[in-house]
Amino acid sequence: MPDLRPQIRPPAGRSEWLMLIDGSWEPAAGAERLEVLDPGTEEVIATVPAGSQPDADAAVSAAREAFEQRRWLELAPARRAEILWRIAELIEERAVELAEVESANQGMPVAQARAGAIPSAARCFRYYAGWADRVDGRSVQLVSGGREFHAYTIREPVGVAALIVPWNAPLLMAAWKVAPALAAGCACVLKPAEETPLTALLLGEIAMQAGVPAGVLNVVTGLGEVVGAALARHELVDKVAFTGSTEVGREIVRAASGNLKKVSLELGGKSPMIVFEDADPDAVLPGLVSGAFANSGQVCTAGSRLLVHESLHDPLVARVARRAGELRVGHSRDPHAELGPLISRRQLERVLGYVDSGVSEGARLRAGGRRMERSGYFVAPTVMADATPQMRIAQEEIFGPVLTVLPFDDEDTAVEIANDTVYGLAASVWTRDIARAHRVARRLRAGRVGLNVHAPPDPAMPTGGFKQSGWGRELGPDGLDLYCEVKSVMTLL
Ligand code: NAD
Repeated sequence: MPDLRPQIRPPAGRSEWLMLIDGSWEPAAGAERLEVLDPGTEEVIATVPAGSQPDADAAVSAAREAFEQRRWLELAPARRAEILWRIAELIEERAVELAEVESANQGMPVAQARAGAIPSAARCFRYYAGWADRVDGRSVQLVSGGREFHAYTIREPVGVAALIVPWNAPLLMAAWKVAPALAAGCACVLKPAEETPLTALLLGEIAMQAGVPAGVLNVVTGLGEVVGAALARHELVDKVAFTGSTEVGREIVRAASGNLKKVSLELGGKSPMIVFEDADPDAVLPGLVSGAFANSGQVCTAGSRLLVHESLHDPLVARVARRAGELRVGHSRDPHAELGPLISRRQLERVLGYVDSGVSEGARLRAGGRRMERSGYFVAPTVMADATPQMRIAQEEIFGPVLTVLPFDDEDTAVEIANDTVYGLAASVWTRDIARAHRVARRLRAGRVGLNVHAPPDPAMPTGGFKQSGWGRELGPDGLDLYCEVKSVMTLL
């Protein structure tokens, strides 16, 4: 039996986990605390402050003051770049500890956190370190009304940014927002999900060590509907960047309307993996299985719908179901685990509810479909075949290890089914016909398309959604723009 005790320590040598506000570690104003669980054992591994309105106010005031006093902006851009680079180095130096904490809290196998999620967060800071001294504008040759101007644009930080992130990849999702926000020159308040606050607090400690001035990055913990909502509606916040469910995304938009703060949203998905008749079922199998089940399907771009040409349907579904049944599901510290648990009891019930709904609507269970008999929120990897496009399991985001299989008979029908949800986050196309691959990529209403791969994210490539999958693009140069205002300056020559 592997050792299941997580090795986790609060930041700054403290005996308890506190929030980072204006460079110091603080309890919640109301002194209440929230329990943090290991979803693989259902045991409490830590408690964190249950922040509320006064804590949101304190964090926003700290960020506002840091921004107005130009504590971050007064540093030379090259110095800000060095600090972001240093954050990446410190993440790497502490990668073993961060992987341990992340996996204990989120449930992902520790080896995957060590090889994937944690280095990816470091890479995101490195990427945006490269942008920190390139936040520049354009010069324009302007002649208007017979007069000649000297004209140019400047990109400036949007101001105070509230960054609200989910539980499925806690440190990485924080990095996707903190790194570009700091590169742009913003002051930030980071709000991790209540289920997974620990690595966000460690990131706060790392940022301080790297030289981010006090107040420039604040981290508040607490319930989304309390402290998250307080940030989203705060009059002194200029921008809110949110990743999570589409329902909460709508609430963020409503809350942001008070002072019309800028909003970017990375929301849900129901991403199709489209397999054409010329694909080799054995060759595509590993990519499809990881596209569907990586991180137990708790990935916004997960390939949760398998659209397969009817001529390939039976052999491919048999292979996918067999492989799903073979996946090793286990505790994060089990060295053989390929998949971990779901994040919470609520998520477990939600996922199993979708399985029931699929069965009652007529889909056929080909693998999994049940909670595993052990403590922890484990669901067996599930394949549901004979689905139709209007079933709930084919339309709604499940966010668990559940793959819905839909047959199609020609390219037009495949594209029609693929585009027939409210979402448009990602897609993949599996075929040996290169022209068809590119043609279908153009016709898909999705922010990221993989050709013979269910493409992973990378800091250099923009990511985000068409339709109700979100507003704006994170990562890449576009990700920096989310945190910038553009100013036009002109004078007569
Ligand atoms: P959620 O949208 O409720 O939570 C995401 C973040 O928003 C968390 O930090 C949470 O504290 C915060 N939040 C919650 N309510 C808020 C509010 N009113 N104002 C401001 N912030 C608020 O996600 P969830 O409830 O944990 O998961 C539900 C579903 O969301 C999942 O089943 C999945 O479908 C989807 N989800 C998607 C992603 C993604 O990356 N696209 C990530 C997590 C969850």
